[in-house]
Amino acid sequence: MLKRLQEEMTELNREGLLRKPRVISDIDGVRVKIEGRWYVSFCSNDYLGLAQHPALKQAMIKATKEFGAGAGAARLLSGTTTLHHQLEREIARFKQADDALLFTSGYAANLGVITTLVKKDDIIFCDELNHASLVDAARLTKTQLHIYRHCDAAHLESLLRKSKIQSPKSKIYIITDAIFSMDGDGAPLKEIVRLAGKYKAYTIVDEAHGTGVFAKNGRGWCEAQGLGKKVNVIIGTASKALGSLGGFVSGKQVLIDYIRNKSRPFIFTTALPAGTCAATIAALKVLGSEPGLRKRLWDNTDYMKRRLEQMGYGLRNSVSPIIPILIGDTKKTVAISEALWKKGLYVPAIRPPTVPEGQSRLRITVTAMHTGKQMDGLLEELRKQL
Ligand code: PMP
Repeated sequence: MLKRLQEEMTELNREGLLRKPRVISDIDGVRVKIEGRWYVSFCSNDYLGLAQHPALKQAMIKATKEFGAGAGAARLLSGTTTLHHQLEREIARFKQADDALLFTSGYAANLGVITTLVKKDDIIFCDELNHASLVDAARLTKTQLHIYRHCDAAHLESLLRKSKIQSPKSKIYIITDAIFSMDGDGAPLKEIVRLAGKYKAYTIVDEAHGTGVFAKNGRGWCEAQGLGKKVNVIIGTASKALGSLGGFVSGKQVLIDYIRNKSRPFIFTTALPAGTCAATIAALKVLGSEPGLRKRLWDNTDYMKRRLEQMGYGLRNSVSPIIPILIGDTKKTVAISEALWKKGLYVPAIRPPTVPEGQSRLRITVTAMHTGKQMDGLLEELRKQL
């Protein structure tokens, strides 16, 4: 068995696809220290810099002192503290929903919600570029799965029109990222919601990269599209713009109660530490009290995009701080990423299987914490490399 694994790894290495984490020994804003050298990171999803915000750190320390480092049990046993409870109430208020439920990660939330709601005779429609966790969740349901072309509502409709439900009780679900993690573009939600109405389907939207970034107070892409109440199930994570950790789902009371009672990835795992919940509660407060952070994020995003476009790069319809620069060839992408690395710039090469073959790219994420000088430094090096 080990011999086979080694052969596969050798093959991955030959194709430039072998992965190894870079180990960070210190952090200062968007700068990270790796093997004794500082780099400017352009690959964090900490869009507002909240992971380093004093309010989050203090809240986490205080709660940890009170409740301990770990929760010690699953939520439905002795793992629920007042902070878990408070955070769920705050998320529900933030998302303007009846209630919300926490999971230990965004990945677990996608798995936990979709495998619980979708039954054997139901039908799922998925965007072809949905995040791996949505794809894995859809596959686990073992139900009929239809993949529509990326953000192509016309293709989705043609598949909906052809689909045949198995029984009068069957339900149809349309599942999509709000903001796509590798392209930074937004799902055509108005069209999707319209089609859901026409074909009696339910919508499930993953706001991982929308929460904290879009709409008033950062409510998300659904809200920015004027659809906050029209999407049936909204999933999110605190691990990106909220600078913390933990997935969540929000929606109608009966929906949340059902998931709390039935979802295996919710029931059979240890609760998040109370300190993490406290940090997310603090993050939601900062979203409301420091709107300047979101303004800085968007100023930086607009600046970077404008300059890249002036340099002649197409940005693949990105509407978000995720800025893809398509290179295509994997080895070339890795070589450019390595050259930037040598100049103290951390811009990862995104390769298959994260993106389809032939679509390797540099993926730049801009945050509120980047300075003009840091962005100009990257633009200058990109000009030399590309
Ligand atoms: N959904 C999307 C669209 C994502 O990009 C990610 C994280 N890469 C997740 C879900 C998973 O979230 P988490 O990291 O909190 O597990």
